[in-house]
Amino acid sequence: MAVQTLTPFRFDNSYARALQPGFYAPARPATVPAPRLLFLNRELADELGVDAEALGGEAGAAVFAGNALPEGAEPIAQAYAGHQFGGFSPQLGDGRALLLGEVIDTHGRRRDIALKGSGRTAFSRGGDGKAAVGPMLREVLIGEAMHALGIPTTRALAVAATGEPVRREALLPGAVLTRVAASHLRVGTFQFFAARGQIDQLRQLADYAIARHDPDLVGTPDRFLGLLRRVAQRQAALVAQWLNVGFIHGVMNTDNMTVSGETIDYGPCAFIEAYDPEAVFSSIDHGGRYAYGNQPLIARWNIARLAEALLPLIAASEDEADVARAVEQATEVIDAFPAWHAAALLRGQRAKLGLPVDARPDEDEADAALVADWLALLQAQKVDFTLAWRRLADAAEGQDVWLQPLFADPAALDAWLARWHARTGAHGGTGADRAARMRQVNPAVIPRNHQVEAALAAATDDDLAPFERLLAALKRPFDGTADQADYMAPAPADVTAGYQTFCGT
Ligand code: AMP
Ligand code: MG
Repeated sequence: MAVQTLTPFRFDNSYARALQPGFYAPARPATVPAPRLLFLNRELADELGVDAEALGGEAGAAVFAGNALPEGAEPIAQAYAGHQFGGFSPQLGDGRALLLGEVIDTHGRRRDIALKGSGRTAFSRGGDGKAAVGPMLREVLIGEAMHALGIPTTRALAVAATGEPVRREALLPGAVLTRVAASHLRVGTFQFFAARGQIDQLRQLADYAIARHDPDLVGTPDRFLGLLRRVAQRQAALVAQWLNVGFIHGVMNTDNMTVSGETIDYGPCAFIEAYDPEAVFSSIDHGGRYAYGNQPLIARWNIARLAEALLPLIAASEDEADVARAVEQATEVIDAFPAWHAAALLRGQRAKLGLPVDARPDEDEADAALVADWLALLQAQKVDFTLAWRRLADAAEGQDVWLQPLFADPAALDAWLARWHARTGAHGGTGADRAARMRQVNPAVIPRNHQVEAALAAATDDDLAPFERLLAALKRPFDGTADQADYMAPAPADVTAGYQTFCGT
């Protein structure tokens, strides 16, 4: 039985306060035999206004493993539904997670503090509610990497080992992750109530989401359409950032898409090595639904599901004419998604190319073609995506010698480089300035799949040193210093060819 001990968090639990049971079920973290802290994010603790010292020792391990409930926590498992690989599940919910509560961080932002892997809840169905050390440390590595890359993401505050084995394909050491999020509201949360025809609850949820994420829309007559538009814009921008670092989420089900615009759920995610829009690493993604290049289409598909869920709110009444008008308005948002995404993508690509992000609109087509041709070159010659962009910065300074060896046919590269030099040169500035700017947006270090796997395998065998070294490198992705050399090198092609990721269940 969990006991109340520490008061490290100043909880202010708006979700539990504003919404009733039905939106959630009360939950209690399971008690585990031997809590031990594997990771504590002191930087994030500071940002949250949490006393990291108080949480560093045994007391912290007890909190982060779920054995001790910090004062003010009101643990609940949230209800949600979701389309998984295109098929609708009317009831998913936090089956192995619970929300401890919310805090206001030092920037005044409301953040959820949640446990993942903390045992069974009302939504666990057949599952054990537990998680293993490897997948929870993966959340740390990828989340911190994304954060350092400037990509909105949930983050890990801590991981505690439980001292209890969990049964997967094999017996694995168990762990609990403490996850920090702008909120855990998902597209699937709206689908849960929409599917049940619970329109009052749907409206309550939407108003809660608006107050939390889009407070300028509070009380406005078109706020539900406004919410849809904002979520769509955030996701359009988010997926653009993913593409620009080579990230594949791997399981973009509607229950894994946030309303806040943060990336959530680092299960079967992976980074591409050689550029390939069709790249898929997830063992269960047989059809390539969540392939690298398919992500913008899927994001739009998910937004269409959100639009359907919100339709009863967007419509002024149930009259046919009002519903038809709502469908029209929602469709406009869904149809605008590709252009929002393309604009965000091109902004990011321009920065990667060393061009001003706000070029004239009449330059869009030529710049988009310049990037498309570059990516086509990478694809045709199976060039490492991350290295190629990074070494393009060297080429901005006239140092083509690093870039050239990545290409089997350098003539095609030279022709493209001539076009790129002509375009970037038109903007003035020295090559060195351009190179410096490019190195701030083209990472040298990403969580390369083989390095992540090696770190997690060692951690599963109780050796945290590789995990800690990799994490330190991932926190400085744009440095590219000599000490990071191991983390900049691609995996051998045959390793990548055989690489598979698994859902962290
Ligand atoms: P995910 O694929 O991690 O996004 O999870 C999809 C759904 O399955 C969510 O409702 C999870 O809470 C639930 N789930 C995943 N793993 C477990 C588990 N080990 N025990 C109970 N529920 C789980
Ligand atoms: Mg999930």
